[in-house]
Amino acid sequence: MPLVVFNTLSGMKEEFKPLRDNEVRIYVCGPTVYDYSHIGHARTYIVFDVIVRYLRYKGYKVKYIVNITDIEDKIIRRAKELGITPLELARKFEKEFFKDIERLGLVKADRYPRATEHIRDMIKVIEALMRKGYAYRVGNDVYFDVSKLKDYGKLSRQKVNSLKAGARVEIRRGKKSPLDFALWRGVSKDEPGWDSPWGKGRPGWHIECTVMAIKHLGEQIDLHGGGEDLIFPHHENEIAQSEAYSGKKPFAKYWLHTGLLMVKGEKMSKSLRNIISIREFIDKYGADTLRLLVLSSHYRSPIEFSEDKALQAKRSLIKLYGILERARLMVKFKEKGGKIEEVRERAKEFRREFEEAMNDDFNTPKALAALFRFSSYLESLIDKGYSGESIRVAYETVVWALKLLGFKMKYAKLSEERLASLLPLLIEIRGELRRRRVWDLADRIRDKLGEMGIALEDREDGTVWRYIPNLLTD
Ligand code: AMP
Ligand code: ZN
Repeated sequence: MPLVVFNTLSGMKEEFKPLRDNEVRIYVCGPTVYDYSHIGHARTYIVFDVIVRYLRYKGYKVKYIVNITDIEDKIIRRAKELGITPLELARKFEKEFFKDIERLGLVKADRYPRATEHIRDMIKVIEALMRKGYAYRVGNDVYFDVSKLKDYGKLSRQKVNSLKAGARVEIRRGKKSPLDFALWRGVSKDEPGWDSPWGKGRPGWHIECTVMAIKHLGEQIDLHGGGEDLIFPHHENEIAQSEAYSGKKPFAKYWLHTGLLMVKGEKMSKSLRNIISIREFIDKYGADTLRLLVLSSHYRSPIEFSEDKALQAKRSLIKLYGILERARLMVKFKEKGGKIEEVRERAKEFRREFEEAMNDDFNTPKALAALFRFSSYLESLIDKGYSGESIRVAYETVVWALKLLGFKMKYAKLSEERLASLLPLLIEIRGELRRRRVWDLADRIRDKLGEMGIALEDREDGTVWRYIPNLLTD
């Protein structure tokens, strides 16, 4: 079964074939670290987490890079409000970002390069773009000259003319076209910035990603991801810069974009004041609940978030983990039911369905539906009193799928302590049955416990239990 992905660049589903053999190089646009990340960000990160996991499962050697944007107007503005340096602010929220993604259980990217540690590389790339005639200087700024590219607009599939008409009226003097974008921006002496051949300044946002992608993955990469809010202008401009710089096409073979997480029809974003931070969500519902909520929609569709959906996801997880825990206990018993062949067959069928869904552009809702159906089957086996090997096979199959999708599966296990606490209850009930002279039931409790090696001893002051272990001979 080949893996098929929807490529924003072609607007179609295509078979996934990396540029080089078995290697997949992935770049995903990471956070601008000026505040806590919200569950909209988490949606995008969880989706690419699952994509990376699945590609590795398929046998690809994946190199995964997520950048940290640690210099940007929003960072500078916020730092000023707080009376700290932009770098202090950025480092603080970078730390918080790492805490959040750890709690989410995301696979570690191979690197999280910071923009501020690539300023020299950016200056070099900008100089090269100027030499090649793709960029021009106006005062202390440098702009990319969009008119030099015939295929500008190919990712967002827009014609340059309509883009121009839609572009905001640009007030900066000297720009040749409103579509030209800044590679470097001059700043005044007291603003944060770096020395460059064009005076003190800061890099544009788009050039950061071009430079970090090329530096850590090479001039041509396999897969570039991000939220769909980044298609234009960010990713369009990344393509323009990267292809102009390297002379190689395509910069990224597959462009994958996640739909946005919305609240009441609007994108979840700090500026709209409708955010729920990742930690707030996890404290309330748990990390796996967010993962289930995210994966219950196809990654390209928008998600309309509501507390109701979170509760629903939490309920489904509790039910699922309840089944898993019962199964885990039943595995410990002797095989009963003898349905192993049937269970193996059903498990194989489920795995096939699951992979078929994932191979179709990572159709997680379909894969999850198959998973929930299979877990209901597991539950029905337990309900019928099966135990041992057949339960083990079904149980391990469910765990396999959940692990593949990155679920942490952290829940309170039904502990020995809890099970042992049933003994006093049984003793109490047996005592009550005896007082009511229901001898047969009272004896049944004593006999059943006896079979387990638990002997009841009735004394003047009440009943106590003793454990009579079998001595092991090996
Ligand atoms: P930012 O920190 O805003 O640059 O965003 C980091 C990543 O999260 C980018 O890939 C964005 O596309 C993505 N993102 C931001 N807001 C949302 C949202 N509401 N839903 C889904 N993805 C988002
Ligand atoms: Zn980017």
